[in-house]
Amino acid sequence: MIPDLGEEEAQAAAEAIRSGWVAQGPRVAKFEQEFAAAVGAGHGVAVSSCTTGLHLALVLLGIKPGDEVVVPSLSFIATANAVRYVGATPVFADVELSTGNVTVETIDAVRTERTRAVIAVHQGGVPFDTAALRKATDGWGIGLVEDAACAAGSTAYGAPAGTGARVAAWSFHPRKLITTGEGGMVTVDSPEDATRLKRLREHGMNVSAADRHASKQPVLEAYLETAYNYRMTDIQAAVGLVQLGKLAGLVAQRRQLAARYQELLADIDGLVPVRDPAYGQTNYQSFWVLLDGFRASRDEVLTELAARGVSARRGIMAAHLEPAYADVTPGPLPVTERITRESLILPLHHKITEADQNHIVGVLRELATR
Ligand SMILES: *Cc1c(COP(=O)(O)O)cnc(C)c1O
Repeated sequence: MIPDLGEEEAQAAAEAIRSGWVAQGPRVAKFEQEFAAAVGAGHGVAVSSCTTGLHLALVLLGIKPGDEVVVPSLSFIATANAVRYVGATPVFADVELSTGNVTVETIDAVRTERTRAVIAVHQGGVPFDTAALRKATDGWGIGLVEDAACAAGSTAYGAPAGTGARVAAWSFHPRKLITTGEGGMVTVDSPEDATRLKRLREHGMNVSAADRHASKQPVLEAYLETAYNYRMTDIQAAVGLVQLGKLAGLVAQRRQLAARYQELLADIDGLVPVRDPAYGQTNYQSFWVLLDGFRASRDEVLTELAARGVSARRGIMAAHLEPAYADVTPGPLPVTERITRESLILPLHHKITEADQNHIVGVLRELATR
């Protein structure tokens, strides 16, 4: 992923600095409003990263020590780590092969009477089945946090992936579609949830520092609960506002490039590229290819691509295989292990050309027929 940052973002950051207001202020408020509108949510609460956003989402739902939270192992490790931040226990669920996402069945298989919530991930931008998971978690009486770190511009059931979520967390890390350097957003529909989240990201204060400074009258703030400093800066938000304006164009371009990859790869045996699920569209944040009886191993493919100047990456990680989770003994996760070991992510960014794609697919074709 190469971020699409240019002169406009540099100007916006410079203007924020010249304005003298660099911490959370008017640009953060504007970015929150515009981002929430773009993903079909009632309110946006900007935070320092998606990881801190996931932490706050679990605090919002009241998750505490002794509770279990079901998460996919097949995700960036921050998804599972957030559960440990509130002292709860992550329980790993398997995923389906076609989307890389948890399903009602894979969650149900590991659910216990201590399960208080699920964090479902729109993996690599591929939306999970929002309608099915929201209905199931409501029926079980447990919370659903939507890890939408990769899902800006993805859709489900004809609406942006965040529409209708109780709480969703988004990332603006440079490896995602739009970036603020570091940064994240939590979106919710309920105004009460938004108020609580704004308090949680700002030391538990009942009035934001920005509102206090803007007021003509002296304002005495109160600290209502022990909370965090997870704020975004106005410099970041200034960049985010420009990036948000580019989102639709970036998604359209990625979908075109992905369609071209799919066409070029179609007649190579043993390669299964990621596709849209029936109920939605991915933003192709990650264009992954699953090896399914391919002639070479995943690592041989990565090595050969690297030797020919192509920086493909290993597929999505599995948290339960990392040392940080060595103390967890999950149930069987066959699909997770298959995807993490037998998939790779092909280069897809705004600077890639048709010639680059032809070269990459050419190397794969050679490997297939060698
Ligand atoms: C990138 C990512 C995160 C973490 O995002 P940060 O903004 O870097 O904290 C969390 N979950 C998933 C699925 C991600 O891909």
